[in-house]
Amino acid sequence: MKKIGVLTSGGDSPGMNAAIRAVVRTALKKGMQPIGFIKGYNGLLYENYMEMDWSSVSNIIQRGGTVLKTARCKEFYEPEYRQKAYENAKAMGLDGLVVIGGDGSYRGAGYLSELGLPCIGIPGTIDNDIACTDYTIGYDTAMNTVVECVDKLNDTSQSHERCSVIEVMGRHAGYIALNTGIATGAVQIMTEEIPVTVEQVAENIERTRGYGKDHFIVIVSEGFGNPNEVALKIQEITGIDSRATILGHIQRGGNPTLRDRVVATIMGNYAVNLLEAGKTNRVIAMKDHHYVDYDIQEALAMKKGLNMQFYDAMLDVSC
Ligand code: ADP
Repeated sequence: MKKIGVLTSGGDSPGMNAAIRAVVRTALKKGMQPIGFIKGYNGLLYENYMEMDWSSVSNIIQRGGTVLKTARCKEFYEPEYRQKAYENAKAMGLDGLVVIGGDGSYRGAGYLSELGLPCIGIPGTIDNDIACTDYTIGYDTAMNTVVECVDKLNDTSQSHERCSVIEVMGRHAGYIALNTGIATGAVQIMTEEIPVTVEQVAENIERTRGYGKDHFIVIVSEGFGNPNEVALKIQEITGIDSRATILGHIQRGGNPTLRDRVVATIMGNYAVNLLEAGKTNRVIAMKDHHYVDYDIQEALAMKKGLNMQFYDAMLDVSC
């Protein structure tokens, strides 16, 4: 094992830089030449890469985003382009590849492994929507960003006795909504996994108003529905002035938290150890506070849901 690549693919997340740094530095420590591919699989396909050394990852552990850039690469859905990428890898003498991204990126890595390029996946996405792992790099930072923003909105909601409806990321996964809902004292969360109607939310608001509460937070997961419509309906039913705020891409940026830096560093190091041991087609995961690895196809077939104990607790405490 002499030359190994690293790339970031799909949506970015805070902590990706820490993972890149760990891959590069571990590889150097083992006497390997690390290569950074630019803009995900595009870098491999269009031969856009750079040789990385100790200093190319200096002073990035604390920075959000990804120094390697990230992008979708639609060509990778076609076998002939994957073949081309594989041939590029062989021609440059690449012995392995670490792919930092989500499920889609692992699919690409699975195909490359099948063609003969050893690949290891690292979970990097703010949504925590990768079934094989309890935790994905960027999740903690994103949630802390949400909490900071919601706390600010809560201040002004309190002054004006308003209801603040806040859309957070997590298109098909309500993990961010659930945890930030608990942490900000939301009266309700609305996600794809939880079949709650606006009428029921309004009912909860009315009930807590009966206890003396005069301002309200409702967290809505992206993809659940239009937060402006939710706010309007709450206002119609309850008469409480209601405003919607979409937090958007602010959730993807910022300096990674301690947790994201640590997880990214351990996973990056683990990935290079796996390649050195001759492993391929594996994805790294955190299970019950331990770091483990799974076959990519097995990992992709796994399912995980929201922790309903958390949801019940949120409801008990908030309404
Ligand atoms: P994520 O990795 O966060 O799930 P995407 O689903 O956008 O993000 O995937 C990132 C990239 O991985 C895609 O642009 C593509 O290059 C590659 N990819 C995704 N799905 C596949 C697939 N089924 N086959 C091959 N490559 C894929």
